[in-house]
Amino acid sequence: MSALLDVAGIDTFYGETQALFGVSLAVAAGEVVALLGANGAGKTTTLRSILGLTRPKRGTVSFDGRDVTRDATHEIARSGVGWVPDDRRIFPTLTVARNLAIAEKATRFRRWSLKECFEVFSAVEHLMNRECENLSGGEMQMVAISRVLLGAPGLVLLDEPSQGLAPKVVQDVMRVIRRLRDEGVGVLVVEQNVQTALEVADRAYVLDRGVLVHAGPAAELRDDAGLRRRLLGA
Ligand code: ATP
Repeated sequence: MSALLDVAGIDTFYGETQALFGVSLAVAAGEVVALLGANGAGKTTTLRSILGLTRPKRGTVSFDGRDVTRDATHEIARSGVGWVPDDRRIFPTLTVARNLAIAEKATRFRRWSLKECFEVFSAVEHLMNRECENLSGGEMQMVAISRVLLGAPGLVLLDEPSQGLAPKVVQDVMRVIRRLRDEGVGVLVVEQNVQTALEVADRAYVLDRGVLVHAGPAAELRDDAGLRRRLLGA
């Protein structure tokens, strides 16, 4: 079975500075994969490379069996890659309802209805008329994830989804990730919070200064404190 997402040997640069060195990783449909590593390891750069926001100089990114390495970001998004960036990137002066309506319009397919989003994030329903700039971090994250779900992604890239969230909201987010997996969506999650990520992930990769230093079942890292300490200092 070929992977839903296949990243093969990418080298990515910011100007002259190389940020990724031959990074290869894969995500299957219905699989949650964690991408871990210290600050500056290259996790966000990997997501940006997949999305064509920072284009790899060498190597390829394939989605659903198609080489998308040279595709425009909006084409990659439209082909079914959803992205929840770490800064969440909601239109701040618009209401939640407007933000979600824009996402609904932008998509040709539907995976989740608004009602289904409300079932998982019940708070979102009560926030519909609020302007996004007045939301808390957790509320904002729920809106950002809802927006991606409305876009019917086959693959969801989550950048630090638990950052700044109350434990209860983190659990809500983890519930969504599990539900996406159950629906056959592939999820690639970048996390500083190693424990949370390993709780939900099937497999994990570890990046160190732009180099992939570990790939294996999440359970292995979860159960082996020595390995975790060696790779992540955690
Ligand atoms: P963090 O958790 O801190 O976001 P990260 O693992 O996501 O870390 P990246 O943000 O991908 O790491 O950064 C990887 C490397 O690329 C770092 O050395 C960083 O300084 C560098 N870098 C990131 N963005 C830029 C940029 N826009 N211009 C130049 N260098 C950058």
